[in-house]
Amino acid sequence: MDCIFCKIANHEIPSKIVYEDDLVMAFLDVNPNKPGHTLIVPKKHIKDMDDMDDDTYLYIFKIAKEIKNKLIDKLNCDGIQLCQNNGDCQEVKHYHLHLIPYYNSTIEMDIDTIYKKIMH
Ligand code: 5GP
Ligand code: ZN
Repeated sequence: MDCIFCKIANHEIPSKIVYEDDLVMAFLDVNPNKPGHTLIVPKKHIKDMDDMDDDTYLYIFKIAKEIKNKLIDKLNCDGIQLCQNNGDCQEVKHYHLHLIPYYNSTIEMDIDTIYKKIMH
């Protein structure tokens, strides 16, 4: 199967990883909507919400809460949007939860600077 997020989860192609354990990985979106835009994926290939088992679903949201708090802490953003696309609006067919920081003012920061801030 030629799945870009399986390759990222298996370290076959590089990404800016902000969290990893045996079950999930979180990494910065290569084309962020806002600085700090992060994706959380299960390491096993699960297409979308319909294919997701309850245990993995709960676990992803537990980790999402931790990463949300980390992004707020490290980036001083003013909120976080969570979203997950299914069907024709889902570009990459490997489940991923978007965490998109919200800023009250306009923030311009390149991905390397953002990554350093999060990981510092
Ligand atoms: P979707 O529309 O499937 O919910 O969103 C896919 C997201 O994955 C997009 O925001 C896109 O920028 C991101 N993306 C696609 N390919 C890559 C990649 O190779 N690396 C990273 N880090 N993000 C990717
Ligand atoms: Zn996959």
